[in-house]
Amino acid sequence: MNTAMSSSSSSLSPEVLSPAAMRDNSEELFRKLLMGVSVMAGLTHLCFLLLFYKSGVTPLAMINVGSILCYVLTFSLLWHNHVVQAWMLIIFEVVGHAVLAVYFIGWESGFHFYIMLVPPVMVVSPLDNWRAKAPLVLGLVALYVGLDFFLRLATPVAVLDPSVINGLHYFNLITVLVLLIFLAGMYYRLVVQSEQELREMATTDPLTRLRNRRSVLDTSSFEAAKQRRDGRPMSFVLCDVDHFKAVNDTHGHEAGDDVLTSVARVLRTGVREVDHAARWGGEEFLLLLPETNVSGATLVANRLREAIEELRVSSKDGPLRVTMTFGVSALHPDESIDQAIARADKALYTGKHEGRNRVVMAAEDHAR
Ligand code: GH3
Ligand code: MG
Ligand code: MG
Repeated sequence: MNTAMSSSSSSLSPEVLSPAAMRDNSEELFRKLLMGVSVMAGLTHLCFLLLFYKSGVTPLAMINVGSILCYVLTFSLLWHNHVVQAWMLIIFEVVGHAVLAVYFIGWESGFHFYIMLVPPVMVVSPLDNWRAKAPLVLGLVALYVGLDFFLRLATPVAVLDPSVINGLHYFNLITVLVLLIFLAGMYYRLVVQSEQELREMATTDPLTRLRNRRSVLDTSSFEAAKQRRDGRPMSFVLCDVDHFKAVNDTHGHEAGDDVLTSVARVLRTGVREVDHAARWGGEEFLLLLPETNVSGATLVANRLREAIEELRVSSKDGPLRVTMTFGVSALHPDESIDQAIARADKALYTGKHEGRNRVVMAAEDHAR
């Protein structure tokens, strides 16, 4: 039993997200951001296509057909996870389109505003390190200043009616502002969503979807303070699958995992909404029962023990049956959470010694 305890202990230390997992997450965030951008940009270019077609500026209408195709391709690249290629295509389209437009119809048309969107998005992109990103950002800044210097006062190739140029100027100005607000809003939403996902990953056991050890310990501290303030009892039930190693050895690790998932479901659904079921580690689970004294917790544990006995887990070798041993303790006013759980663990150890598939109340709780 002691070996079981220590082997599970090492696997139960709070899950800390690896830098690789964090990077994957921010890349996924950026992919979603670019997907939003390509949809927005595709629609904006459709508006331009119609506008230039109606105004008879066919070369610019043709450029917009190319741009729309670019964004369709970008979306497809993003869909297939080619984020770097998609991002490069977006930069190419935005910069190329803006340069051509201000060259042909003049600076006042305001197409250069779109270039200003690229450096901030480049900064938030998680795709490259700064050695690759910095030259691109600086290059774009230099390009923008260069365009301003050479084209702001230059005579355009095609001189459009001032009212059309004026209309384009304000359309582009407003579109860029809307895109900036959209990008900031979308980035904010994705960051919040990603934070939630990370929090869930950090507090949930990936196999059983129960809380993990860290999460249940945090909740225990919170509940203990509340129950102590209100003078209410609180109990712990620590339980462990009997002879679980034999399940793995006889039927394979996958069958073992299925057993753990099924056991977790029985435990989670077998307690009240206000109770908390957690994977303590390995094949060991902890239940935290607020507003429950030790005899109430013992009743719950016995009910769960019977439910586990009834459980049949399908496997390639036919239905598998397991039993569990339970240790129960109530949190005493003068002890820490760790001490109360250690007493439940001791009771569980006694249960294993006495023959397993039973519920044992912690020794110090009998007298209470
Ligand atoms: P006891 O009745 O004394 O508890 O015996 P036991 O065989 O259940 O205890 P032991 O500690 O010897 O074995 C626990 C086994 O649980 C060993 C370990 O490989 C297995 N285990 C731990 N975590 C997982 C998991 O996530 N999936 C699977 N399939 N097995 C696991
Ligand atoms: Mg164990
Ligand atoms: Mg076991």
